[in-house]
Amino acid sequence: MAHTAQPDHFWMPFTANRQFKSAPRLLERAEGMYYTSDDGRQILDGTAGLWCCNAGHGRREITEAVTQQLSKMDFAPTFQMGHSLPFQLAERLSEITPAGLNRVFFTNSGSESVDTALKIALAYQRAIGQGTRTRLIGRELGYHGVGFGGISVGGMTNNRKAFGALLPGVDHLPHTLDIERNRFCKGLPEHGAEKADELERLVTLHGAENIAAVIVEPMSGSSGVILPPKGYLQRLREITRKHGILLIFDEVITGFGRVGEAFASQRWGVTPDLITCAKGLTNGAVPMGAVFVADELYEAFMAGPDSAIEFFHGYTYSGHPVACAAALATLDIYARENLFQKAIELEGYWQSALKNLEDLPHIADIRTVGLVAGVQFEPHAEGVGKRAYGIFRQCFEDGLLVRASGDTIALSPPLIIEKSHIDDLFSRFADAIRKAG
Ligand code: PLP
Repeated sequence: MAHTAQPDHFWMPFTANRQFKSAPRLLERAEGMYYTSDDGRQILDGTAGLWCCNAGHGRREITEAVTQQLSKMDFAPTFQMGHSLPFQLAERLSEITPAGLNRVFFTNSGSESVDTALKIALAYQRAIGQGTRTRLIGRELGYHGVGFGGISVGGMTNNRKAFGALLPGVDHLPHTLDIERNRFCKGLPEHGAEKADELERLVTLHGAENIAAVIVEPMSGSSGVILPPKGYLQRLREITRKHGILLIFDEVITGFGRVGEAFASQRWGVTPDLITCAKGLTNGAVPMGAVFVADELYEAFMAGPDSAIEFFHGYTYSGHPVACAAALATLDIYARENLFQKAIELEGYWQSALKNLEDLPHIADIRTVGLVAGVQFEPHAEGVGKRAYGIFRQCFEDGLLVRASGDTIALSPPLIIEKSHIDDLFSRFADAIRKAG
């Protein structure tokens, strides 16, 4: 297939720019479960774009809501001013968030949601007279976006190492990937809940009175689909509660139905103090993120005089009218089509299809829950990521979009997927694995 080299002005994010521009993979249209490439091929979307188009592509309801809003009012500030949409949206969101997390701060991305949540945690501790609690704890292999807060608590080496000294006073829990004990497990792994006890060690090391918050992805997506062992999140909740430490779940990927239920917090029965989200909030159509905050945290900020600004933080586009319109239309679709249940309904079928991959060449592990999977390959002699990248390229040539991350291919299709698409997806994927060797 002929690729047209692209001009060099766009500095592409998280991309090997020179390699890509010499042989680009360009998408031109999207509808339902499929992209169309610039050379007219149908590409089955195995990644919901970038974990964001949970209701599938080209949803007319979202287009119409956005178009109408743009012609009615393109922008309005939300600093000491307002318009009704973010109020409506926050109320709608509070109907689907875990009980008690009813306050919503709007952002424009997952990275901004993470930095916002960390700042709320620090400012809250100060507001309740716990100003020595300034330490933040993340986790190895965690991904929390690319702001300085997010890369500091994040644990993916390449995202940190070029940027010098990050936030001071950050420590990390160990990751929960344990292929030896949990290989090919379906659903949450049996082994590893004890890794949460490392938090007790960090509390002993630093003193609880110095720790503000712990942030984890309930399921790590970007570092290769790493699942929480059974009982692990519950244990983190117990320890954080015992020591007055806030617990933040970064649900930028798991939010809006990816693992079943609206949020992973609900699927796995653990309620944190704050939840970050983005991506699926608008079905990826307009950039938007949000932080869901427990009522008692919000109330702690409201103690001063009425005329005082309670939290010196916000973005020009917090609660942007067009993003709100997209999100409201998206929530309607999720509710009407019952999409948060879809990952649970199809989980068994999805897992059986994955089982058939186990004997293919170079498979090191398969991890899956809801409508997400991480297929990890043995490392190639030429280096980490080489094999998965080759398979990703082969998939694209063969009409399937997957996401390569290190030695793992992640699959996270739109939640509108049908069984016939699942069959097609895995048949193309298996062929690509065989071809790429
Ligand atoms: N947090 C998590 C868990 C993510 O997976 C991501 C993106 O993939 C982010 C934060 C950052 O989101 P964004 O790229 O919208 O800034």
